[in-house]
Amino acid sequence: MLRMDGCVDELRKKVSELKSGGASIGLVPTMGFLHEGHLSLVRKSREENQATVVSIFVNPTQFGPNEDFEAYPRDIERDASLLEKEGVDIVFSPSRTDLYKPDHSTFVTEDTVSRDLCGASRPGHFRGVCTIVLKLFNIIVPDRAYFGEKDFQQLQVIRRMVRDLNIPVTIRGCPIVREPDGLALSSRNVYLSPSERSDALALNRSLKEAKRCFDGGEKNAAALVKSVRSELEKVEGLAVEYVALRDAFDLSIVEEVEKPSVLALAVRAGRTRLIDNIILNEVSS
Ligand code: AMP
Repeated sequence: MLRMDGCVDELRKKVSELKSGGASIGLVPTMGFLHEGHLSLVRKSREENQATVVSIFVNPTQFGPNEDFEAYPRDIERDASLLEKEGVDIVFSPSRTDLYKPDHSTFVTEDTVSRDLCGASRPGHFRGVCTIVLKLFNIIVPDRAYFGEKDFQQLQVIRRMVRDLNIPVTIRGCPIVREPDGLALSSRNVYLSPSERSDALALNRSLKEAKRCFDGGEKNAAALVKSVRSELEKVEGLAVEYVALRDAFDLSIVEEVEKPSVLALAVRAGRTRLIDNIILNEVSS
């Protein structure tokens, strides 16, 4: 496994060598502090490509001024050893100045899919995400890039950006990986105290309960949202940021669930912001 700490030109050179040998390239963009969720993307990329590049970069432009950029957990040595075991070809872990010149002034804005939900509570977040992801696409020029459905809105914003800007990459969405008790894996779970960790179980529990109502015939979005909200509100330690039921492709408002839809939520457990979602009416593949 090749570790490239920063030099963009060297990385380009290495990737083009792999490509000229006929390898297709899979890219897995991450912010590090890896867990089984990230590794599931890596495994998918390894299955589908001859070479896999994993980027590890805590991207400052997607954090708001009062968010946890400085505190975000980092452990590059542990990450590298996990990726080595997975048979990753290249780990790219640039520094801030490798990717953003001090006078960086160009950003990518998606204007519709990113507007509500996390976009409303984290102004500028998706602008930062689109900008870094497009930069990584331009540096690596992967055939395929892998994103988790855990960050469902992010996945759909990226799909829209790729479509709208004619970026020659295939976006692959991968299912949410959970702890055995249902909590979605997240690098931020390390922030949770034992009681917050147990409060957080309500996220998946409330979504599963709503899915049961849906499977039992409840198609009304307001009723499904209400069922999730009331389950979450039973837990004193959680503050609900949003619960929403949206079209699974463009995240537009849904009144009755007829097409594939996503039931998504964001809450705070203490100071930690957690998100989760479940797909309703999924098209079976
Ligand atoms: P992050 O390091 O949090 O930016 O995540 C990097 C990628 O891993 C994103 O595409 C996430 O959606 C994905 N990811 C994070 N957690 C999970 C999870 N529990 N299951 C599946 N994918 C995940």
